[in-house]
Amino acid sequence: MCVFMLYQYKKINYRGRFAPSPTGGLHMGSLVSACASFLDAKASQGEWLIRMEDIDPPREQAGATEEILRALEAHHLSTCSEIIFQSKRSHRYISAIKQLWQQGDVYSCRCSSKQIKVLRKECLYCPCRDQSIIECMGEWHENILDELDQLGGALRLRVDELAESQIVFEDRHYGVISKNVAKEVGDFIIRRSDGLFAYQLAVVVDDAWQGITDVVRGADLLDVTPRQIFLQKKLGLPTPRYRHVPLVYDEQGNKLSKQHFAPVLDNALALDNLRVACRYLNIKLEDPQSIEDLLSQAVDAWVK
Ligand SMILES: [Zn+2]
Repeated sequence: MCVFMLYQYKKINYRGRFAPSPTGGLHMGSLVSACASFLDAKASQGEWLIRMEDIDPPREQAGATEEILRALEAHHLSTCSEIIFQSKRSHRYISAIKQLWQQGDVYSCRCSSKQIKVLRKECLYCPCRDQSIIECMGEWHENILDELDQLGGALRLRVDELAESQIVFEDRHYGVISKNVAKEVGDFIIRRSDGLFAYQLAVVVDDAWQGITDVVRGADLLDVTPRQIFLQKKLGLPTPRYRHVPLVYDEQGNKLSKQHFAPVLDNALALDNLRVACRYLNIKLEDPQSIEDLLSQAVDAWVK
């Protein structure tokens, strides 16, 4: 039985979310994503939540969580509910792994990503798939992940070349997307060899647990959506609607992202920042004099 039958949140027609990782302060690229999901939720009279995706400490920056939350507040992008932190939700991710383990859908793999790449080029699976340590360890028990860590290796999800690995969904911006996860991605990691939970697992578990109906986010995540849907199906979870927003680039053609050193926004310029974000989203405004005025105009424009 699916372990997520009971959601934390009551069912609702629309619930969206913004889910930043605290790898730095809020920049224009992430403000555009935040605005898109916020406006989409408000235009649908739905709820909008903030979730902090802090499950990758080596990539995180001290103080970034507080900085992001302060920035969202300064731009009047307020959550309808408590903010959840992925760093505090390991038990949920372990429950999902337990379910996949009991279904025989995971195996322990000690190959490097380089080795996997070479094997995939030759259409081969890694040898760990057939010599699973998991089978030798028998039934699921409390300390099993610690025991696995001692042996080393990541946990991979099996993606067999069956009809179920052909994922088709309709993105609200990009239209119908079709991807064969077995052919184009292969068995993917849901728990890393350093013991950290993979983003794909955490996001799927949390979207379901929070009852998210609509995911609106940057187009850089369009490519990983089919594997998230595949994982939802394996866990017996509903698939939300997706809308990916085109990425934002600077004058040099670099994506506005932390990797390309996009500057952190100045909260004192929140109204101007929101004007720019709306321009990137092709929202026309009539000279808003306040943040409230701007957001109200932007919601009306989004509905149209
Ligand atoms: Zn392997």
